[in-house]
Amino acid sequence: MSSNNRKEPSFRQSVDALYNRAIRHMNISEGLAEKIRVCNSTYTVRFGVKLRGDFHTFTGYRSVHSEHAEPVKGGIRYAMSVNQDEVEALAALMTYKCAVVEVPFGGSKGGLRINPRDWSEDELERITRRFAFELIKRDLINPSQNVPAPDMGTGEKEMAWIADQYKRMNTTDIDARACVTGKPLNAGGIRGRTEATGRGIQYALRDFFRYPEDVKASGLKGDLKGKRIIVQGFGNVGYHAAKFLQEEDDAKITHILEYNGGLVNPKGIKVQEAKDWFTHHGSFKDCELGEFVEETKPLFEAECDILIPAAMEGVINLENADRIDANLIIEAANGPVTAGADEVLRKKGTVIIPDMYANAGGVTVSYFEWVKNLSHIRFGRMQRREEEARHRMLIEEIERATSNKLSKAFKERYIKGADELTLVRSGLDDTMRGSYATMRETWHDKRSDDPDFDLRTAAYIIAIQRVADSYKALGL
Ligand code: GLU
Repeated sequence: MSSNNRKEPSFRQSVDALYNRAIRHMNISEGLAEKIRVCNSTYTVRFGVKLRGDFHTFTGYRSVHSEHAEPVKGGIRYAMSVNQDEVEALAALMTYKCAVVEVPFGGSKGGLRINPRDWSEDELERITRRFAFELIKRDLINPSQNVPAPDMGTGEKEMAWIADQYKRMNTTDIDARACVTGKPLNAGGIRGRTEATGRGIQYALRDFFRYPEDVKASGLKGDLKGKRIIVQGFGNVGYHAAKFLQEEDDAKITHILEYNGGLVNPKGIKVQEAKDWFTHHGSFKDCELGEFVEETKPLFEAECDILIPAAMEGVINLENADRIDANLIIEAANGPVTAGADEVLRKKGTVIIPDMYANAGGVTVSYFEWVKNLSHIRFGRMQRREEEARHRMLIEEIERATSNKLSKAFKERYIKGADELTLVRSGLDDTMRGSYATMRETWHDKRSDDPDFDLRTAAYIIAIQRVADSYKALGL
């Protein structure tokens, strides 16, 4: 039977199907499994904003999947495709994601049905503030209960408006800034948050390639150098992942796919130049960094070593799964592979680094930002110079004792105390590395009996077990 005769479930059902698959490997009561699976609540709001001389009604959501840890966390998406099923699926993934990388938050997600390209910046500000007002007055934005962040269609600007709106409505809350993450630096943001999800993708791939056994399971060899990569979606996440992998790991970005056409160059596309072009022209048409191809469908199915879906859910589905020609897929987006496609790919032997681990860099650095906001001090401010003084003392003593001068370049690198960005990267690297090690251990452990056992199921098992343990401790 061809795989595309089967019916595709909704996003929410797809996440649940993958969840249920993991539950079958666990010793957990049916009642608790059900409690963890369901979404606790979803708030729908319709509000009007007077724009261009008339009232416009917008529909927004904030879904809370699990409150086993608070605040609950998750982005706010601006897209016309936003609906209840989608925010609930995304909120569930946030719960599992936070659990996998040991970020002490529950899962939530928000969305607004809007095409941000239809509105000017001033209009978007008014719409965002009004949406934020609706959520704030119901404690669905609150530093100790529910902390949004950017997602598809939103960024620093929207987060700054939300933070300011909260502050206006809670003038005496000293922790007001911690009500949202992903803010610009001058509004309480943290260095390294913008590129964090892309950076996390790079770290996740480095972790994978650190283990020859894992690389072998995907049919690949060696390290990231020269690996042919297709990036689907050239927004914040896809762009940063591609840039770092090319500039720092010597990987070859052969295809970049956007909604209005793709760029192909088997020798590798210069990512930063491609970004500059795209930002300026809004399309890859006439871009000389590669060949422009308007129809992206065949490009997505082109042969590559690593496929990075970095746009949105459901792009690898029953219709195209058997034509996907990648050894390794790393899910930079949330839910890019449907449950049905997951099965097809598993049978083909494609290794998938699952979303809840792969794209957790964003929420990990959001956690650092939230801690920074609550402590009211930049990371490294107290210790940086003291660290430098100690390092300098050691260098001087070595030079004196050996009567030898160490190289200037080494001294400069060694003496330098850690600043905020260095600390953020170190914390993110440590998080990705530790989580991968735990995940692969479960993977290999179970794979010896069941060759069909995959990394995603390993990630679910770890996440569900952690949430179950905290529910048990809470006595629910
Ligand atoms: N929207 C991002 C995600 O899906 C970030 C969430 C956050 O930082 O809270 O993981």
